[in-house]
Amino acid sequence: MDTSKLMWFENSSEFIEKLVKIGVDYHASDIHITPWKEQVYIRYRISWELESFYWISLENYEKLLNTIKVASFMSIDEHNHIQDWKMIFNFKKDWVDFWVNARVSVLPTIYGENIVMRLLLSNSEMLNLDNLWFSEHNKKIISKIKDIDEWLVLLCGWTGSWKTTTLYSLLNKYDPFTNSIFTLEDPVEYTVKWYIQSEVKEKRLSNTSTNYTFQEWLVWILRQDPDIIMIWEIRRKEEASICLEAANTGHIVMWSIHSNSSIWAITRLKKLWVEPYVLASSLKYIIYQKLVRKICPKCRESLEFRKVDFPDKFHKYLNKDIYNVFRVNSKWCSSCMKWYIWNTLISDIIENDDDIYTLILSWKWDVEMKEILISKWYIPPYIDALNKAINWELDIRDAIII
Ligand SMILES: [Zn+2]
Repeated sequence: MDTSKLMWFENSSEFIEKLVKIGVDYHASDIHITPWKEQVYIRYRISWELESFYWISLENYEKLLNTIKVASFMSIDEHNHIQDWKMIFNFKKDWVDFWVNARVSVLPTIYGENIVMRLLLSNSEMLNLDNLWFSEHNKKIISKIKDIDEWLVLLCGWTGSWKTTTLYSLLNKYDPFTNSIFTLEDPVEYTVKWYIQSEVKEKRLSNTSTNYTFQEWLVWILRQDPDIIMIWEIRRKEEASICLEAANTGHIVMWSIHSNSSIWAITRLKKLWVEPYVLASSLKYIIYQKLVRKICPKCRESLEFRKVDFPDKFHKYLNKDIYNVFRVNSKWCSSCMKWYIWNTLISDIIENDDDIYTLILSWKWDVEMKEILISKWYIPPYIDALNKAINWELDIRDAIII
C-alpha cells in the first residue's frame, strides 16, 4: 500500500539530514530513493520490510541526487554508471553523541538514478562486545579471543548482520598504542583514531590511479609490520591464502565471510581450495551472527507452547512440557509502532579444537560435520534463538524457523 506523503524542500543538505534522522528514529537499516516517472519515492527498510514514507518531485530529486553525490565524492556528471561511496552524519540522540555511516550506492535505471543508503549507527558504547547481544555462553568464548596472539578469527553472516560492528568490537579489545592495527575495507565503516585504515577501491569505476586489488593491498600491509589485520569480505583463493599465511606467521587476522553458519564457513573456505591443513592450523574461532527482530514488551501477546509444538530438532534441549512464550500482537502500539523494538543477535561460535582440526582435514560436508559436533559440544544458532524466545525476547514463531 502506498502511504507516502508529498515532501518539498529548499535545502537539500538539511533534507538528507532529516531523512537520516528519521531512519535512526525508526531503526531503519536502509533508505531507498527511487525515481518513478514523475515522482520519486523515499522508502525505509524497517525490520526487514520496506515502507513508503514520502514522495518528492523530479526537480527536488535532481537537487537531492547532486547533494548526495557531492557529499559522497561521486561524479555528478556521470549518470550512466553505478557508483558507491559513503557519507557520515553526526548527531546527538538523548545524551549520547553518535555518528551514522551511510554507505551510498547509485544505480542508473530507466527513470533516473536509484539511490540506496545503508545506515550504520554507531557510538563508542556499541563497539563494546558486552553490549552486542551475544548470549552469556557465547560472550564467554569471545572473551578468550584477546588471549590469542596469532591465528585467524572468522566472522560470518549475511549482509547487514552487523559483522563489521562485531569485528570492530573485537579490535577494540586491543591497545592501539602498543599494537599496529590495520583495517582493509570497501569502504571503511568506522573510523578509529590510531588504527591504520585503508579503503580498497578495486571495484570502482573512477579514474583513480590507486585501483589496487585486495590482494595487492594485503601484500603491502604485510610489509608494514602489522600486529592485527582486519579485512572485509574475502572471496578469492589468493586473498584467503595470504590471510592464512599471515595468521600462521605471528599475526592476528580477522576477516568476514558470507555464510549462514560457522560450520558452513569451513565448507566455503574449502570450496575456495585453500589448503585444508593450513586452514586447520591457522583458524582459531569462527563466529556466526544473524540480526533478528526483538519483540516489543509493551504489546506482545503471551501464549502457551507445548513441547510437541516445537519442531523435532529442539526436543532434546527442552526439559519442560509447557512453555510460556510470546508472539507479536497485530494491534496498534504507540510504543513500538511496528510490534518489534530494535534487534538482537542470534549467534554460534566454533573454537578450533581437536574435533574441528580433524573435521577440517576430513572431506566431510557441513551437514555431516554439524551432526558430529552437535553430538559433542556445538550449540547451533537455532538453540540461541530458542533460548531468546523462552526468555521472551523473540516472537516464538520467528525463533522456531531460524
Ligand atoms: Zn509495542
